Amino acid sequence: MIVGAGPAGLTAAYELMKHDVPTTVIEKDPTYVGGLARTVEHKGYRFDIGGHRFFSKNQEVEDLWTEILGPEMLTRDRLSRIYYRGRYFAYPLKAANALWNLGPLETVRCMASYAKARMTPVKDPRSFEDWTRNQFGFRLYNIFFKTYTEKVWGISTKELSADWAAQRIKSLDMWLVLKSALLPHRKPANRGDLVTTLIDSFRYPRLGPGQMWERVAEMRRARGEPVLMGRTVDRIKHDQGRVTTVVTRTVSGAVEEHKGSDFISSMPIRELVSRLDPPAPEKVRRAADSLGYRDFISVAVMIDRADVFPDNWIYIHDPTVKVGRIQNFKNWSPDMVPDQGKTCLGLEYFCFEGDGMWTSSDRELIERARTELAQLGICRPEEIFDGVVVRQRKAYPVYDDVYQAKVDVIRDYISAHLTNLQLAGRNGMHKYNNQDHSMMTALLVARNIVSGGGFDPWKVNADAVYHEESRVGDKDLTGRQVPERIAAGAAPKS
Ligand SMILES: Cc1cc2nc3c(=O)[nH]c(=O)nc-3n(C[C@H](O)[C@H](O)[C@H](O)COP(=O)(O)OP(=O)(O)OC[C@H]3O[C@@H](n4cnc5c(N)ncnc54)[C@H](O)[C@@H]3O)c2cc1C
Repeated sequence: MIVGAGPAGLTAAYELMKHDVPTTVIEKDPTYVGGLARTVEHKGYRFDIGGHRFFSKNQEVEDLWTEILGPEMLTRDRLSRIYYRGRYFAYPLKAANALWNLGPLETVRCMASYAKARMTPVKDPRSFEDWTRNQFGFRLYNIFFKTYTEKVWGISTKELSADWAAQRIKSLDMWLVLKSALLPHRKPANRGDLVTTLIDSFRYPRLGPGQMWERVAEMRRARGEPVLMGRTVDRIKHDQGRVTTVVTRTVSGAVEEHKGSDFISSMPIRELVSRLDPPAPEKVRRAADSLGYRDFISVAVMIDRADVFPDNWIYIHDPTVKVGRIQNFKNWSPDMVPDQGKTCLGLEYFCFEGDGMWTSSDRELIERARTELAQLGICRPEEIFDGVVVRQRKAYPVYDDVYQAKVDVIRDYISAHLTNLQLAGRNGMHKYNNQDHSMMTALLVARNIVSGGGFDPWKVNADAVYHEESRVGDKDLTGRQVPERIAAGAAPKS
């Protein structure tokens, strides 16, 4: 019995199918499988909930993608840049290109602000702002680090910890900066070079990431085991240390009971714990309730123009607009649009469920997208002929300074008291990782069912590699790094 038809749930189902283990898969969404990696369709235009690159250091996962989709997996070149005040900057940042784009006056200002920061650094920097300012000077920090970080995490860079900045941001080569400022004949990269330096490649299904999971769902259907769509977990009944039944409810109120010998959950652990019947002890419930999430809105707009920009996506550092990133889905795969004369852009807004952005109407959000695109000079308002809004709850599990201890409480309770329930996936394990990680954890829990145990999905590291030796709970090994607030004990509001 598998809860969730995202990458984790469907990978577990696929693996068990290979071993002829019958499974029931239930999914809350009435229409789409794929979870966060689904592809939404609107009048022939297809788009992701945030562009999904398929890339893994785990060869087994790469091979699985090939096995499921074969030639439908495309290899794509990548171009992504940063937009700031009407200019496009190479990403990853190149010092020379950055200063060239800023122009001579701003370059001199940046150099002066860098010199000042070196001569009078903030002593014992504790915040992201102080650390980054010490490293690059206030002006460069303000342009390249402040706005985007605040858009994504919804927390001021004054409140984020310096440790995260130190771990994440590699120093710009300040010697290069000096050379390009002092020796103007040493021109920075021209556009040709810029494109070359930015290109790397990744794989992507011809019809978007959802195609992968639609294919697995099709295979199940062909075997007479369709994914049960539009079913939300209402209660998880357990007795004498074992889960016995998952009770689901449809939008129309129809209640069903699903029994099984083994249970895999990829639903958010906060919800899972709240559905247990009888309820978990108070300590476990409190731990689950304290877990936080960052939510996400994607506004897809259709534009009556063939070529809008060449990138797969652009980071928007411009502080005058709320959009954080813009995807151009046609540049991921031409078949994401039904007509090559048109373009479909996905504008990404990071938010918290219930905030002003989240509660705006679809019409307001599409209007915002239209205004911001015009303001950024990307297209004219009248070129946009259609738009659609997707709100995604719990897009990012939040790591605060207490989350690991809380997850441990829940994990310990489940392993001791619900012995036939295994957790897998991103929100299923509260791990801010990519699809490959979710898939690897799912493969291991499926193998535990086939072979009677022995694999610990908590030992899959952030690169989706299973490390028998890794310390359980060591987030440096098992999870991507995310920012933390400075004050110990103060959890982010997300
Ligand atoms: C903006 C963004 C960009 C990303 N980019 C990339 C990328 O480039 N490359 C990459 O590899 N990964 C990327 N990811 C991460 C990737 O989407 C996730 O790692 C992956 O989808 C996690 O799979 P999952 O099955 O664990 O969880 P999910 O995808 O969250 O699937 C869980 C499923 O469970 C269902 N469910 C939840 N609650 C219930 C319930 N109560 N009852 C029944 N069903 C329920 C959900 O509807 C969902 O279908 C990105 C994520 C985001 C948000």
